[in-house]
Amino acid sequence: RTKLFRSLHLSSFPPLLFPSSRISVDDFTFTPLENARTCFSLHGIPENIVVGSHVWVGDPELVWIDGQVVSRLSKLYPKDMDAPTDGVDDMTKLAYLHEPGVLHNLETRYMMNEIYTYTGNILIAINPFQSLSHLYDTNVMQRYKGATIGDLDPHVFAIAESAYRAMINEEKSNSILVSGESGAGKTETTKMLMQYLAYLGGNTASEGRTVEKQVLESNPVLEAFGNAKTVRNDNSSRFGKFVEIQFNKYGRISGAAIRTYLLEKSRVCQISAPERNYHCFYLLCASPPEEKEKYKLGDPRSFHYLNQSNCYELIGVNSAQEYLSTKRAMDIVGISQEEQDAIFRVVAAILHLGNIKFAKSEETDSSVLEDEESKFHLQTTAELLMCDPNSLEGALRERVMITPEEIIKRSLDPLGATVSRDGLAKTLYSRLFDWLVQKINISIGQDPSSKCLIGVLDIYGFESFQMNSFEQFCINFTNEKLQQHFNQHVFKMEQEEYTKEGIDWSYLEFVDNQDVLDLIEKKPGGIIALLDEACMFPKSTHETFSQKLYQTFKDHKRFIKPKLTRSDFTVVHYAGEVQYQSEQFLDKNKDYVVPEHQDMLSASKCSFVSGLFPPISEETAKSAKFSSIGSRFKLQLQQLMDALSLTEPHYIRCVKPNSLLKPCIFENMNVIQQLRSGGVLEAVRIKCAGFPTHWTFHDFLTRLGILAPEVLRGNFEEKDSCKKILEKIGLAGYQIGKTQIFLRAGQMAELDAQRAFL
Ligand code: ATP
Ligand code: MG
Repeated sequence: RTKLFRSLHLSSFPPLLFPSSRISVDDFTFTPLENARTCFSLHGIPENIVVGSHVWVGDPELVWIDGQVVSRLSKLYPKDMDAPTDGVDDMTKLAYLHEPGVLHNLETRYMMNEIYTYTGNILIAINPFQSLSHLYDTNVMQRYKGATIGDLDPHVFAIAESAYRAMINEEKSNSILVSGESGAGKTETTKMLMQYLAYLGGNTASEGRTVEKQVLESNPVLEAFGNAKTVRNDNSSRFGKFVEIQFNKYGRISGAAIRTYLLEKSRVCQISAPERNYHCFYLLCASPPEEKEKYKLGDPRSFHYLNQSNCYELIGVNSAQEYLSTKRAMDIVGISQEEQDAIFRVVAAILHLGNIKFAKSEETDSSVLEDEESKFHLQTTAELLMCDPNSLEGALRERVMITPEEIIKRSLDPLGATVSRDGLAKTLYSRLFDWLVQKINISIGQDPSSKCLIGVLDIYGFESFQMNSFEQFCINFTNEKLQQHFNQHVFKMEQEEYTKEGIDWSYLEFVDNQDVLDLIEKKPGGIIALLDEACMFPKSTHETFSQKLYQTFKDHKRFIKPKLTRSDFTVVHYAGEVQYQSEQFLDKNKDYVVPEHQDMLSASKCSFVSGLFPPISEETAKSAKFSSIGSRFKLQLQQLMDALSLTEPHYIRCVKPNSLLKPCIFENMNVIQQLRSGGVLEAVRIKCAGFPTHWTFHDFLTRLGILAPEVLRGNFEEKDSCKKILEKIGLAGYQIGKTQIFLRAGQMAELDAQRAFL
């Protein structure tokens, strides 16, 4: 069907498109790129042909084919016939700024391995899925050092350079926000940014464990414990990260602080093929024989937490070597040998814990250890955690209930005991992860006298899957927050440009997403608040929670109750609708450590383990109100936004060109969706709402002088020539600034069309 439209050419238009009297069976839609060759201007389509019109379409082979126009204005865009064939390094240089133009430009460049392109101040980085080491070596860093943005090819280094220079020159903190979907290249980009900042602000004279080395080596440590193979990425970060690099008054790195967000806990005890658990488990199973013996480890296939998936290896990764390099990185960030031993003991203990199985006890409903093997793993877990095996068994199988009259011990059934076991594994792992982050922060050290910093944010992009649970909800909430920040910034930059040129921008407007944010986080009454309420009320179920949402938000523009479900709900996010399944929302929102687990571990003889579970005093236990993951996350996010608001932001949008994770494949649909949800198209839209096309007087005359040769012949100032040409053509709504002409969306196409008819 698209073939039909390929056959439409500017030269043969309009005579090839005639209204037909026949009812046609054919209807066709354009995809933006398919339509790129049908390059006529909107104004060229006869007025009597509208959406729904039946038409005859000329075809070189069949001469005439009948069809129906399904959509017109929204899917037809003019193509710039003067655009350079190898694309432009900044989208704002496109004469016609619109979706197909943006997409085509990115594809053209990507196919030439030009993976970086600007859209104004935003850097778009397309994952090459192949090593392009020539792009990142020291020579390249040298070239970017001191260079002004725009002088050299677009690059992550250019963004880091401009953040660093702005910090030095204006004595103001800067931040670089890296976003994109899983596998788009955020973490790799972040590492390159940090590498470059370490290059600029490194303490070249000092040897050994410098601050910048520690900052860089924190990456492999966090990746070993916080990254895992998923369907989307072999090295997927399962947490968000904000690294604040502090600089002293000489512009040298003097400290750093790492903040992490929402580690995915469920992965510790639940995975499915072809995904894997966190890397550290496999690394430890590949450690040297004496260590494996110490931790009583063997083949990863023998552990329940690993063998739920049949994937154990990663292509191109040697786990034994990775184990050693992780330990080296731990040395550098200042984790002692004893601490490393304790860390890996906890990791091994989690694997053994997962192999403890429960069976139904013969007399009652309660549970017992299933077999000798389970007893062995229980014993080993207790040894590794240095706690009493009987209390461990008790903590897993029993719950203590305190009533005014007595203390009752109740035994859990096998399922309850298994849930308890998995809960313990998740708590242990997340406390371990938090400990690592805290330790790295203490060891790198903060510089209290530092006035300027550069923050680098590597956080999960918008997610919309077949099934979306609490995690997706929090992730998309984050993205709404960042989107608002982004829009406000892009908007402000546009305004500043107009002000500088002395032109009127009063009608520049954009759609805010404050209403979605209110829906989610408003207190009281937002979804998070209602979820907390539901969690505090013992009789709530996910269904009563959803009913409450349906009632409360029945007229909310951003909330939909989907048909055919009793408990799903849909949020209309800025990047599209997402339908959430509320089943696990209540459980996942409860931030709760079973007191029996807490008591058992805080009594561990290993100070590392007991340190992960500091005793809770009576008062805090009593006064501590219900604590929820959602509310805590909301607070963390607010703190992040407050921190960001004190900085000058820079944006990098990472794009995954295909789902096959292969080089040189560019999937249009995939990319366009990411540009939409990454806000790139929103930025384009904001630009289009104002004056998307800016031309210097000189360039304008070169391109369009032909429309008024008499003006060119006259001996006018460039600015006056431009004015005369525009007046002659009778365009309305454009503005003439101090150095440039500002055209409204579509006006450039109109001018070109006139030129084409000459
Ligand atoms: P997630 O959200 O899952 O953590 P991510 O956006 O952080 O994903 P990365 O882990 O940075 O994605 O990148 C995924 C993979 O893509 C990398 O492991 C690497 O193989 C490849 N890659 C990303 N960026 C580059 C690059 N600039 N050059 C070469 N390869 C890259
Ligand atoms: Mg990542």
